[in-house]
Amino acid sequence: MRAICYHGKHDMRVDNVDDPKIEDPGDVLLKITSTAICGSDLHIYDGYVVEMDHGDIMGHEFMGIVEEVGSAVTKFKKGDRVVVPFTISCGHCFFCNKQLYSLCDTTNRDRDKTAKLMGSAPAGLFGYSHLMGGYPGGQAQFVRVPCADTGPIKVPENLTDNQVLFLSDIFPTGYMAAENADIEPGSTVCVWGCGPVGQFAIKCAWMFGAGRVIAIDRVPERLELARREGKAEVLNYVEQDELMARLYDMTDGRGPDSCIDAVGMEAHGTGLQNFYDKAKQAVMLETDRPLVLREAIYACRKGGTVSIPGVYLGMVDKFPIGLVMNKALTLKSGQTHVQRYLEPLMAKIASGEIDPGFLITNTYNSLDEGPDAYKMFRDKQDGCIKVVMHPHGAPAV
Ligand code: NAD
Ligand code: ZN
Repeated sequence: MRAICYHGKHDMRVDNVDDPKIEDPGDVLLKITSTAICGSDLHIYDGYVVEMDHGDIMGHEFMGIVEEVGSAVTKFKKGDRVVVPFTISCGHCFFCNKQLYSLCDTTNRDRDKTAKLMGSAPAGLFGYSHLMGGYPGGQAQFVRVPCADTGPIKVPENLTDNQVLFLSDIFPTGYMAAENADIEPGSTVCVWGCGPVGQFAIKCAWMFGAGRVIAIDRVPERLELARREGKAEVLNYVEQDELMARLYDMTDGRGPDSCIDAVGMEAHGTGLQNFYDKAKQAVMLETDRPLVLREAIYACRKGGTVSIPGVYLGMVDKFPIGLVMNKALTLKSGQTHVQRYLEPLMAKIASGEIDPGFLITNTYNSLDEGPDAYKMFRDKQDGCIKVVMHPHGAPAV
């Protein structure tokens, strides 16, 4: 089959690789109809994710048709159309029983190695390095889906791939980001980053009762989408001399009640802080650039909550713990517990409350454009906001 494979920093290639096979009775094999590139894939593309091997198959946002079913699978049969969460979860360990699916204790095959770095290991993830289980990803024509009875969800016939694909990750991620932000009726929510995760965080903030949503980025078409689709008040941080002062001005001098960092470890910046972070990151004295995290903590009103869906990988510098403590802030984060949100968010799509397809700017009827699409998405060229590929050509629905 064809698959997008990692061959080093900024080097993705479409390779011919072996077809996956059922390896465990709990697996299903999926023929992939739609697959997307995520902001998290960019951290791999830009060379920040360690323990990636040449030839690793990328991708964790995908859906398709069940081709083959392992003998222990009870929920699915050949021909079922499903969306798959990026988190691989067993459904019966201590953490899955608490619905903390991204912390599943059993699916990360690299857990001993990862625990040496982190103390303990999160769940296995598709296409996300040999610290997260080394599972082949879904930017491919076929994929093996382990723990199928705890993962995928069936798609109602009348919904298109474009409507449901993002249940695999970014819609639940935006939703959990808003849930983690402790939004009260009428709260002011500020979202840093108007990429795919930020766009969903903005939409979901309203679902939790926000009274105002402020969105920050520098890319004009992303800000425009946040304004038009997300009904957010938008700020371009490059055009804003004093972003923090502006946020305080907009919120009666208190700062936003809830601040969401939907940017993560590759924050862009223009000032001295950014220079400092870039220099330290380049010589490996800091793994991540936490510019937005610092800003969110600085801006957040006393007693407020900072929600962090943006991915961080390791150690950061100049983390303002004194502000967190003295302003009595709450910080919440995590890889998304996707399985927890599949049914309620599918219901929102089915009822017409939201159509997640609003985000898609680039569609390809093969994987061949994938490597160029990575670059285009990373560089935000030609208005690219979200890339969707159909590895077997345009889907029937
Ligand atoms: P993206 O790269 O398309 O979007 C990031 C956006 O942040 C861009 O629009 C960029 O212009 C903006 N940005 C950069 N620096 C900024 C700054 N200083 N201030 C304001 N905005 C700034 O990626 P995405 O797909 O939207 O993902 C965003 C983050 O969410 C990534 O770190 C990704 O890894 C993470 N993520 C986390 C989960 C999870 O489970 N927690 C799931 C999916 C993605
Ligand atoms: Zn993702």
